[in-house]
Amino acid sequence: MYYNLDLVDISIVVPCYNEELNLDYLFKEIESVLSTLKMTYEIICINDGSTDHTLNCLIEHHHRNPRIKIVNLSRNFGKEIALSAGIDYTTGAAVIPIDADLQDPPELIHQLVAKWREGYDVVNATRRSRQGESWLKRFSANAFYQTIGKMSRVPIPHNTGDFRLLDRRAVEAIKKMPERTRFMKGLFAWVGFKQTSILFDRKPRYQGKTKWNYWKLWNFALDGIFSFSFLPLKIWSYIGLLISFLSFLYATILVIRTIVYGIDVPGYASLMVGILFLGGIQLLILGLIGEYIGRIYEEVKGRPLYFVRDAHGFESKIIQKNSNTKIE
Ligand code: UDP
Ligand code: MG
Repeated sequence: MYYNLDLVDISIVVPCYNEELNLDYLFKEIESVLSTLKMTYEIICINDGSTDHTLNCLIEHHHRNPRIKIVNLSRNFGKEIALSAGIDYTTGAAVIPIDADLQDPPELIHQLVAKWREGYDVVNATRRSRQGESWLKRFSANAFYQTIGKMSRVPIPHNTGDFRLLDRRAVEAIKKMPERTRFMKGLFAWVGFKQTSILFDRKPRYQGKTKWNYWKLWNFALDGIFSFSFLPLKIWSYIGLLISFLSFLYATILVIRTIVYGIDVPGYASLMVGILFLGGIQLLILGLIGEYIGRIYEEVKGRPLYFVRDAHGFESKIIQKNSNTKIE
């Protein structure tokens, strides 16, 4: 819980993991956009356990422009948690999460703010195109959005990353969600409020390499599906029902056949197929239940979401409850 009397109009939240090559250009772009907007602002950068000079670079920028603030996490927690940490520290009337690699064009902030001024609480930035991404990435992203769209009870906007504008109302709602599996775009959608979208062309990365490989993306997709849908659990009751019904029919046929024609020993193939098929299905369901149990285990442990090593730019006006965070 944070108290801050030093409120601003807009908080930009930038999760940074090994982004030293992008920061100079990023701040130049963001600052030029924000200066034309004539609003007070802060740029909260989360150093997510970078192993390069990202932190030093951020500190230099903080000395140059004190509105650039730094939350330095104790290790790499991953983008979703870095973003949650940044959101916790914001004081702005509106919050805009943005990637450090300039894939989310800062000039779009104008349009986001315009929609916000029209009265929307959440303004999503939806990708019209994905430049610099392979067909496999586009195909898998599309398949993912289709699947989760069908399974999740809340509609999760397609082709929409974390780049968006959130009114303080939505931010406070998101901060109340304590879950450890933080599929942020799901959480952003889940809170509801008055939402709208604008379209943009997503650019390739400015410098550096993406931190996501297909294995990470696959697990990210599973996180999204398992934390926003019970369907993978429920569907097996119906499949089980169907299999029981078919088994009953087959059993009836076997009984009648045995009564009419007597005992018929052959049947090795059907027996094996039946056993292997059911064994396979049972293992699959066990794995599925395991996915949910693993997530329940994560939740009940109740560990804090992240630890902050130090923070720069948050003056003594901020009091963080139950924390021994060093604030400079
Ligand atoms: N990021 C992070 N922690 C991580 C991985 C990524 O804070 O463990 C940040 C990264 O610095 C960038 C944003 O998340 O600002 C998006 O990462 P990336 O560009 O690698 O993802 P992509 O755009 O390929 O989805
Ligand atoms: Mg990127």
